[in-house]
Amino acid sequence: MCKVIFITGTDTGIGKTYATAVLGLLLKQKGLNVGVMKPVQCAGDDAKFLKKVLEVDDPLEIINPCYAPEPLSPHLAFKRSHQKIDLDKIFKAYQTLKDKYDVLLIEGAGGLMVPLKENYFVADLIKDLEAEVIIVSRLGLGTINHTLLTLKQARDFGLKIKGIIFNETKKSKIGIPEKTNPRAVKEFGDIKVLGHVPFLKSFKNVGSIQLDLKSILSEDKKDHAILSQWDKEYLWHPFTQMKDWLTDEPLIINRAQGSYLIDTKGNHYLDGVSSLWVNVHGHRKREIDQTIKSQINQLSHSTLLGLSNTPAVKLAKKLIDIAPKGLKKVFYSDNGSTSVEIAVKIAYQYWQNIGQTKKTGVVHLANSYHGDTLGSVSVGGIDLFHKVYRKLIFKTIKVDLDNFESVIKKNHRRVACFVVEPLVQGAAGMIMWPKGILKKMAHVCKKYDVIFIADEVATGFGRTGKMFACEHENVTPDILCLAKGITGGYLPLAATLTTQKIYDGFLFDYKDQKTFFHGHTYTGNPLACAAALANIELFKKERTLKRLSPKIKYLAKRLKMFYNLPHVDDVRQCGFMVGIELVKNKTTKDPFAWQERIGVKVCHKVRERGVILRPLGNVIVLMPPLSISLKEIDHLIESAYWAIQETV
Ligand code: PMP
Repeated sequence: MCKVIFITGTDTGIGKTYATAVLGLLLKQKGLNVGVMKPVQCAGDDAKFLKKVLEVDDPLEIINPCYAPEPLSPHLAFKRSHQKIDLDKIFKAYQTLKDKYDVLLIEGAGGLMVPLKENYFVADLIKDLEAEVIIVSRLGLGTINHTLLTLKQARDFGLKIKGIIFNETKKSKIGIPEKTNPRAVKEFGDIKVLGHVPFLKSFKNVGSIQLDLKSILSEDKKDHAILSQWDKEYLWHPFTQMKDWLTDEPLIINRAQGSYLIDTKGNHYLDGVSSLWVNVHGHRKREIDQTIKSQINQLSHSTLLGLSNTPAVKLAKKLIDIAPKGLKKVFYSDNGSTSVEIAVKIAYQYWQNIGQTKKTGVVHLANSYHGDTLGSVSVGGIDLFHKVYRKLIFKTIKVDLDNFESVIKKNHRRVACFVVEPLVQGAAGMIMWPKGILKKMAHVCKKYDVIFIADEVATGFGRTGKMFACEHENVTPDILCLAKGITGGYLPLAATLTTQKIYDGFLFDYKDQKTFFHGHTYTGNPLACAAALANIELFKKERTLKRLSPKIKYLAKRLKMFYNLPHVDDVRQCGFMVGIELVKNKTTKDPFAWQERIGVKVCHKVRERGVILRPLGNVIVLMPPLSISLKEIDHLIESAYWAIQETV
């Protein structure tokens, strides 16, 4: 494994090249094979100089893949010489060098916030190269400020900082600042000082320079082993038979970027189920990251019980702006289950409040899934998850797509609400509804005065190709439940939206005791609401839904090949929700016994190809982030195909 260290500075002209050369020579003296790279260079001959001093035989185009002749900021220097900074070229050269050396030293261009191109800074390049960072700083007056600012920015970007090297670019007097600054930086910045490179006329006596090579070369190798041990010792995982878990090596995610999750060992995995159906614009999305950070500087939490807060108010307005017309009020909670439980409680109490006390029944579909709290389990119809709690939950009326109208017609006087997952029954195995049923349900509910609750926890925020699934059939439910994608997959937040009519059913004098007595501690959390606002803003800014449409078509085209597989019986797709159903016998449609855990095996196998999937029984689910590229769709499809072929 090559150790990759990126050398950046607090400013330009700080002596990064000299510090890199000295570090390289010292590492070579230790017997290490040291390579060097200067990915972007504007004028000068740093790359040539490093090649010569460190005596590396790589061609200059590999050491320095991007060169512009004028000494300007790269974004400008390259533009003026009619070139683009070619990141692919950089990554290719990087890979070549990484494969060859024990240590690769990469010298930056200026400091961390030097723009390479639009919305892409040196700090972004460091992140993409997955390098650790050394900051080169000068010694004299003013360096505390510059060094601490650079450190702050590096930490803000989530860079792994090895420490600071102080460098003297010219022979000058060592006064009080020069003597005391390293210590001040160490203390105020809570950072290691790795050493001091004096002004050098030649590299002859480099051996006498002391840099903390041990810290520079140190590895967090122990990370994974310890985390794995603690995971098994202290964690209880959801929906997981822990007896199985304890015999397996856990995959521990440490970082993420775009469509990829990165584990403690540095392996990359395509996030094929959007981290349980929540991620929208990719991981580490700059705008959402930044919004949350800014909100932290403002307010992290304050209660909505008796108070209000700015992001919660702004988001409520925004949600009403984008929701199906006719929804007017927003009630927050923290997850999908509570959003549904709240919807059912509101519907039930509404009828109580207005005096129609017999309307207490709750209707839902067979095979429905609305969450894991007891209220949402009550309206669930998946035996495997729900039957054990039968005695704890309230009674409901279960219907299916053929009989809901007749059941509601017969029982409407004692029915409060009808809860559904519009268009797709997700957890049931991505079961898709025939066209027109949703519209009909809304119509039947209206006709018989039954509150229609649409649980768009899974389908909301673009999953089906439109912002909300209800839009496909021009339906406005009486109550809409939102969660998962609402924050783009960043923070737990849910919202239950209602019409004015329902809200008015709770407007009474306090003494009437008809208040909606419900509220969670973190209801309307400002960080989560700010993330949601940034997420919704991105839909507009990036024209997410417009750009999604051809991807949905491409996905549909690529999914056809699964029918060639001998055990694939059905491939169901609604937008970016896909279920691939595996059967034991395609002709007789004999299913695999659940004990065979065929879905689990396929999803385990696909990790070998760098993809994370999670099944629903014998159904392989594909639900990538909406921001996935066509190339990544290919990777997802081909890996899933391969894993099914290998496993069954
Ligand atoms: N409703 C639907 C339709 C869901 O798919 C889910 C979760 N998969 C939930 C509710 C429950 O959401 P949460 O896990 O956030 O409680």
